Amino acid sequence: MSLTQNEIVGVLKVATAYDGRQRGEADVVAWMDSAARAEWTYPEALEAVKDHFAFDGSWIGPAVVTKRIQARRDAAERARLAELGAAKRAELEAGTTGPADSERVRSAVEAVANRLGWQRKPKKTHAALAVACPHCQAAPGRPCARVIRRGHRAGEFVPLAGVHVSRVEALTNGDR
Ligand SMILES: [Zn+2]
Repeated sequence: MSLTQNEIVGVLKVATAYDGRQRGEADVVAWMDSAARAEWTYPEALEAVKDHFAFDGSWIGPAVVTKRIQARRDAAERARLAELGAAKRAELEAGTTGPADSERVRSAVEAVANRLGWQRKPKKTHAALAVACPHCQAAPGRPCARVIRRGHRAGEFVPLAGVHVSRVEALTNGDR
């Protein structure tokens, strides 16, 4: 993840719109370098600059953008975990109530799971190995895998314990 020169120019133009400070080629080079090191995305960088001027407004440098991007990512991750926690609690609570409730909660949990791309029940998972995976291209009989995106093992495949949702769907569609 990084930003192109045009994207950096776009981000700096937004900053200039707020503070009126003209930026030159040296700024573009420096900000591009920071964007690559701190792995910004373009939408995140734009949001960070706008946030900075909405809530702070002091001098802005790349570190300000990086900190705001990281704070947003952390908040998104906390929200995601909270959602998972709520779904899990609902599932546990359903265990002590009637079957109608537990069915309702099970489908709610499944809806969340589908939205997040979770793998489904082991039984279906196993059966789905019979077909190729449209998501990760695993051949029939081969486990689903994910590709490592970052670090020294980038590009390596890691087999998953489960299968991708779309593979289960591919199996279900094949049954018809
Ligand atoms: Zn797969």
